[in-house]
Amino acid sequence: MLDGCTPWPEEFAARYRREGLWRGECLGDLPRTWARAFGDGTALVGGELRLSYRDLENRVARMAAGFHRLGIEPGDRIVLQLPNVPEFVVVAFALFRVGAKPVFSLASHRANEIRHLCELSGASGYVVPGVHRGFDHTALALRMAEEVPSLRRIFVLDEETGEETGEGTGEERDTVVPLSQVDADPVPLPASDPSDVAFFLLSGGTTALPKLIPRTHDDYAYQTRAVAELCELGADDVYLAALPVEFNFTWGCPGVVGTLGSGGTVVLAESPVAEDCFHAIERERVTVTSVVPTVAQLWLEEAEWAEADLSSLRVLQIGGARLQPELAARIEPELGCRLQQVFGMAEGMLSMSRKGDDPESVVNTQGRPISPADEVRIVDERDAEVPAGVTGELLTRGPYTLRGYYRAEEHNRRAFTEDGFYRTGDLARLTAEGNLVIEGRLKDVVIRGGDKIAAGEVEGHLLTHPSVARAAVVPVPDEFLGERIYAFIVHRDGRDERDGRDEQGAQDERDERDERSEKPALAELKRALHERGLAEFKLPDRVEFVDDFPLTPLGKIDKKVLAAAAKDPALSRRWTSAESTPGRQDPALSRHRAPAKSTP
Ligand code: AMP
Repeated sequence: MLDGCTPWPEEFAARYRREGLWRGECLGDLPRTWARAFGDGTALVGGELRLSYRDLENRVARMAAGFHRLGIEPGDRIVLQLPNVPEFVVVAFALFRVGAKPVFSLASHRANEIRHLCELSGASGYVVPGVHRGFDHTALALRMAEEVPSLRRIFVLDEETGEETGEGTGEERDTVVPLSQVDADPVPLPASDPSDVAFFLLSGGTTALPKLIPRTHDDYAYQTRAVAELCELGADDVYLAALPVEFNFTWGCPGVVGTLGSGGTVVLAESPVAEDCFHAIERERVTVTSVVPTVAQLWLEEAEWAEADLSSLRVLQIGGARLQPELAARIEPELGCRLQQVFGMAEGMLSMSRKGDDPESVVNTQGRPISPADEVRIVDERDAEVPAGVTGELLTRGPYTLRGYYRAEEHNRRAFTEDGFYRTGDLARLTAEGNLVIEGRLKDVVIRGGDKIAAGEVEGHLLTHPSVARAAVVPVPDEFLGERIYAFIVHRDGRDERDGRDEQGAQDERDERDERSEKPALAELKRALHERGLAEFKLPDRVEFVDDFPLTPLGKIDKKVLAAAAKDPALSRRWTSAESTPGRQDPALSRHRAPAKSTP
């Protein structure tokens, strides 16, 4: 297995093979198998392009040979950042076939995230869309190639500015390759090991920046097959990829891979906008699609007056964030299709409601794990299992749940129990019927729409602003997005002094102080964070300045109190004495405070 990844212990691997869950399939070989089975059936539809299974296999084989000719080798990591276009699918499978490991970046990621992904994965290549939605990804990629020594090749999908990609300096010409030129007559390529890593998904982020989730050929082939079976997918099914294709939900639950494995058709939507998706559903006779609750709500609103014919839709999967039962109850009567709740994570474990489940539990629960080999424990703070009906942290392990993040030894010690259970950070309970109900979470994450934002990441960026002394980010409930990002800030009032400064230093400090003494408006903070390369969806929606933060008895910032305050502006911001403890009392916190001050 790729160095830096944690394999399943041999007895588990042997059991999963013995039970027929892991069948030794390699993801890169699948298009060939599918072409044999489904030949002229339509595999992919995107924009004007329609590819049969045979076309898909031909494209994958040619592009894989093209990557091979350009020196992409088994084990190379390649950051893949493309929107919902057929090329995403072709590039991913071509990389699987040469044995390279794509890192599925979000299309919305910018310099900050991309630099991190390239560095952490040691990427040698980066696939970008050229200019997409007004953002010049090629320019970003060239900057990354300068900053990250391992990055040697940039592959550009010629979109709006196709003709520009071949220009530039000689060095740029060597580095930048249009994807259309990654093309060669197919050649035999070395076989991959099915138990090795096939690609990397990104964690929903509890640490400042996303961690990499290694997914093996065996485990992902199993996941997609198992979900496709559970959803009873067949060759007549048409799956609409409405959410970004790089999400685990869209790519493999059953998503793109599960649909192709069943001989169905995948239709790629440019965005989840209701009007566009409704037209696609009508035009392509879509039978299954998956969305986050925010999108479901917008679709319900559109459906009230839209004239598009949605009668082909058989199942609407909703997951990625908490689905309010009131919204869940509206799906079947108003959209005329079956609701399937999906609780899942890129790390692995998936729980879903099934056809035939009683309506009550479909609306109120997140169903049951998809595999008989999924192991679930719900535990208290001491890791002791709690009885059914009691809420605790959900721990899980199984044939498609990771055993460790990539190159994250220290984090892995906290994220897994000694016997290999993954600590999801989600709070759940089991109903008497054995269904899971997700009640909340322990992890410090805001789930905005379906996007996961690690509070720590936004806090880290806020702290670089000269007028921010301390920052604490919490979720605040929102009717449309589920949650928004609420930042509490302790203002740095500009009276700090540093020792040993020279004249210039003193002047600089006075300038900085002027800058600090004004409390910056939300727009100014957002601009500053944006300039630091933080992706748009991570910018705070609200900021509030406070004198201090409430603390837990252990001296940590009490985010529960802050979250309650964010929700209710009428609540006092004068934290009670038990909660409000100046940072001085806690050495860890006082490090973040301004140094001792004297008025100049
Ligand atoms: P990701 O890996 O980005 O899909 O994020 C996984 C996390 O999203 C889970 O650990 C949960 O915190 C949250 N999540 C996913 N599905 C649901 C759901 N149906 N209800 C509540 N939270 C969910």
